[in-house]
Amino acid sequence: MMNNSFGKVRVRFAPSPTGGLHLGGVRTVLYNYLFARKHSGDFILRIEDTDQTRFVEGAEQYIYDCLEWCGMIPDESPAKPGAFGPYRQSERKEMYREYAEQLIKDGHAYYAFDTTQQLEQMRLDFKTEENSSPQYDSRIRKKMKNSLTLLSSEVEKLIEEKTPYVIRIKIPENEIITFHDMIHHEVSFDSNVVDDKVLLKADGMPTYHLAVVVDDYLMKITHAFRGEEWLSSAPVHILLWKYLFGLNKMPQWAHLPLILGPNGKLSKRDGAKFGFPVYAMNWTDPRNNEFTEGFKEKGFLPEAFINLLAMLGWNSGKEQELFSMEEFINDFSIERVHKSGAKFDYEKAKWFNHEWIKNSSADYLFPLVNDLFKNKDITINDEVFLKKIIDLVKERCALIPDFYEQAVYFFQAPEKLDLDTIKPKWNEAKTNFFETFSKKMDEISWTTADIENAFKNLAAEMNIKPGELQLPMRIMLVGGKFGPAVFEIAHLIEKEETILRIKNALTLLNS
Ligand code: GLU
Repeated sequence: MMNNSFGKVRVRFAPSPTGGLHLGGVRTVLYNYLFARKHSGDFILRIEDTDQTRFVEGAEQYIYDCLEWCGMIPDESPAKPGAFGPYRQSERKEMYREYAEQLIKDGHAYYAFDTTQQLEQMRLDFKTEENSSPQYDSRIRKKMKNSLTLLSSEVEKLIEEKTPYVIRIKIPENEIITFHDMIHHEVSFDSNVVDDKVLLKADGMPTYHLAVVVDDYLMKITHAFRGEEWLSSAPVHILLWKYLFGLNKMPQWAHLPLILGPNGKLSKRDGAKFGFPVYAMNWTDPRNNEFTEGFKEKGFLPEAFINLLAMLGWNSGKEQELFSMEEFINDFSIERVHKSGAKFDYEKAKWFNHEWIKNSSADYLFPLVNDLFKNKDITINDEVFLKKIIDLVKERCALIPDFYEQAVYFFQAPEKLDLDTIKPKWNEAKTNFFETFSKKMDEISWTTADIENAFKNLAAEMNIKPGELQLPMRIMLVGGKFGPAVFEIAHLIEKEETILRIKNALTLLNS
């Protein structure tokens, strides 16, 4: 399990801070995190910001916020540097060049001086019916302006004249590049279909390919779990490991299955189209103000979010579906992650949240529900009372905002009454019943059981089935056909308020 020199598991999450954090990204964090915790290892956050053209204000802070909400705090990160810093690749710029130069010396990389126009021309010149976008590869590099085709005196002169250049990897011809993936097992690539990726850009910044390999090495990463979309980059990384550090130093890799939406890979567009969140937290892109909804603000508990994400592509082999982070840490194994894509089902996601809400204590839910009411301009002064209400209605709430509808009538009279439901069967006898019941209330000691007894006794006296009266009573107190036991509601909103609501409803019914 441990393969670095100091014998400790070290994993990393290495996002490019370019925008919101997709749920697939959070699942990558989660599997890394679980693995690190299970093996008493370190979980590192490395910010891969070498592409300065894609810099987005606030994106890094957003990543910290999401990880904090999910309860997965990195052991080392730009905010909490350990012994392997800096943890932002842009701040490590100077470290990469020597590795690129070393590759050139060893014949595994070369300088390329082609201008943008020359590259465009190459794409036009080599375009064929079978190959619509020709790549800079072993065949084409022979026809381009690089240190493999120029004389070394020409190369020296170009560099001396400060001609912009990039450094490209020299992918070998006719080789089968193989590695072992912890999920996909043996994976092989034909080197002839891999292009000579840029390693160092004209501005001196490394590309992702060089930086990820150098940093995984320097940071002593033992296992690298990342999304399957990176599998096609693996051959370049394997070659870099082989040329620079030796394959025996390479971390063990696992490429995690894609999360699928209704039409292939789950995208943020799917979220907007089908009305479910795709990002961990709300995100507004500062470049165009585009807003994408998050699970947090939609009303998911972080425990439920973690639970549903872990189950997307992994199973414990048990019947159990609800797991706490501690239980996941115990049961998780990367070998049980599936190879094929995992379908995201929003109804199932809500089921997880509903279960977590039901199983959470009122103390835990209180701040969330209290904020919900505060944002609706309802101030709750009695904490004990709100906690009682939370316990009473939580089993009816799949998302935190559901608490508003399920509990608002405990704090204010309903704005609208669904009288259409009771009107067709309304009659004078029922009006009589409620008028008499209101008058008799002073005699009731106002416990739930007493209210119910008084109600049922009076119904029997007046010869009306109590079942025909309970729904009207509920609509009078709550506004609609929902909520917990109606006598419990009357008990909690108190006598005076009960009388008032009945009176108002009778006025509306008889007008
Ligand atoms: N920077 C890559 C990303 O944005 C990291 C991929 C990897 O983990 O190697 O996801």
